[in-house]
Amino acid sequence: MCGVCGCGETTTISVEQDILSENKQYAKKNSQLFIEKNMLVINIMSSPGSGKTTLLTKTLSDLKNKLKSAVIVGDQQTECDANQLKSTGVDAIQINTGKVCHLDAHMIGHALEKLPINNDMTLFIENIGNLVCPVLFDLGEQYKVVMLSVTEGDNKPLKYPDMFHNADLVIINKIDLLPYVNFDMDECINNIYKVNAQAKVFKLSATTETGLQNWYDWLLISKSQAYVN
Ligand code: MG
Repeated sequence: MCGVCGCGETTTISVEQDILSENKQYAKKNSQLFIEKNMLVINIMSSPGSGKTTLLTKTLSDLKNKLKSAVIVGDQQTECDANQLKSTGVDAIQINTGKVCHLDAHMIGHALEKLPINNDMTLFIENIGNLVCPVLFDLGEQYKVVMLSVTEGDNKPLKYPDMFHNADLVIINKIDLLPYVNFDMDECINNIYKVNAQAKVFKLSATTETGLQNWYDWLLISKSQAYVN
């Protein structure tokens, strides 16, 4: 249990402050490494089943000649996602968190010890599927990307405002399913802007490979600007 979001054990404000303050120290250490190595590091968060692994698998394959990438992926159990991501030829480390509902900076630090780190690489962190806890834990990343699929409903940004408020980029996935679901795209985008007027929003379908170019362009531009002053 994370002890912060209240999803398990009794939570007190002092415990919350201690946990987040300790996490901040580990996040700072991770961030120093990322800056030193000129890495682009992206923390991808969403509900379970939004399509994070599918999008990453396509991305790693399509951009393999343009980005040197690696992935750290979190799930409570199984190595399924790491195995799928490794099929693209990139290094992928699976973190199994057991009862814990998010990745934290300490876990990322340990995963980094096992990952071949190269200068100028891009590291994708696929967080545990959960729209609440992961956003509380800074991992030292440069960007937070939040994914929402059209099967989840257009009101998710209002129900989980902290997640969307902190996003640099929101990806609306599974747009190929729009004819079959009750999802108002304009309403969803308005809801995103209500909680985060600065958010960049991309609409795509990872499965049908529709609209991927905006995402790829954003990654390549972000990589070219990583820590350059
Ligand atoms: Mg996944």
